[in-house]
Amino acid sequence: MYYIGVDLGGTTIKVGLINEEYKIVQTAVCDTKVERPTSEILKDMAFLCKEVMKKENISEKDVDSIGIGCPGLTVPKDGIILTSPNLPTFNNTNVKTEIQKYIDLPIYVENDANVAALGEVINGAAKGAKNAIVVTLGTGVGGGIIIDGKVYSGAFFGAGEVGHHTISLESEYMCGCGRKGCWEQYASATALIRDTKIAIENKDSKIKELANGGEINAKIIFEAAQAGDKIANEVLDQYFKFIGIGILNLINILQPEIVVLGGGMSAQKENLINPVIKYLNENLYGGVELKTKIKAATLGNDAGIIGAGLLGKSL
Ligand SMILES: [Zn+2]
Repeated sequence: MYYIGVDLGGTTIKVGLINEEYKIVQTAVCDTKVERPTSEILKDMAFLCKEVMKKENISEKDVDSIGIGCPGLTVPKDGIILTSPNLPTFNNTNVKTEIQKYIDLPIYVENDANVAALGEVINGAAKGAKNAIVVTLGTGVGGGIIIDGKVYSGAFFGAGEVGHHTISLESEYMCGCGRKGCWEQYASATALIRDTKIAIENKDSKIKELANGGEINAKIIFEAAQAGDKIANEVLDQYFKFIGIGILNLINILQPEIVVLGGGMSAQKENLINPVIKYLNENLYGGVELKTKIKAATLGNDAGIIGAGLLGKSL
């Protein structure tokens, strides 16, 4: 049996055919071109699904279901997108009925961060875990909560917004959600770069040398720290603390078996994970031993497609 996972993004639609070992065996991609009517975009998506089946020489009867991950709020079993900031024309769209005009398979739709979390539990860093939280550290901070092997999307489909819990009451940084002091404003790659730029202003630092007049990114900051740059190490120490504070809040509330750190920042692997674990061990509630595992994500962009494809199995 195969599964089809779709990553419906504001720029591209990526479709993957997944086999029983939860590996992507065929892919197809096209531009979303969001200005088009939703019916046209969904028709293209249906044809990409047909394309991956054709490439593998299989038919609809060999496929269990199609799962779609997209930004925003969804009703998974009904196949409905309620609201989507990156795909505004999709608000209140029944994706299921539209796709089923072309393909006779069960269709499910879930938030993209949630399906990425499910992917890591199915075949990634959290494989085998029943209860896990996946935190995406990128431009923003996203997340997905898995309880008993299933996505926890809350009573009204909006759960898992871990980036928008407040960690500072004195914060000057306004968040995209309209509040100040959100975790995202401290633990995202964007925040790390902002804090680094402030720290190196009018100072000598290896960071400037490595950036060589170009843009500073997380990789440069980690490299400078490893080369012994004092400012880079100070900024990162603070950054690990910010990440640790948020993770500790999540552990105190949900006590998952594992917290997986994904997004662009997870490329730093143990250079990110080890300092965060150190912070958690030093600050754990009641001074007890840290039982929750902390790991870097392993599936990268495939997590979303694998999680979407296996959505039907986990509902
Ligand atoms: Zn926020």
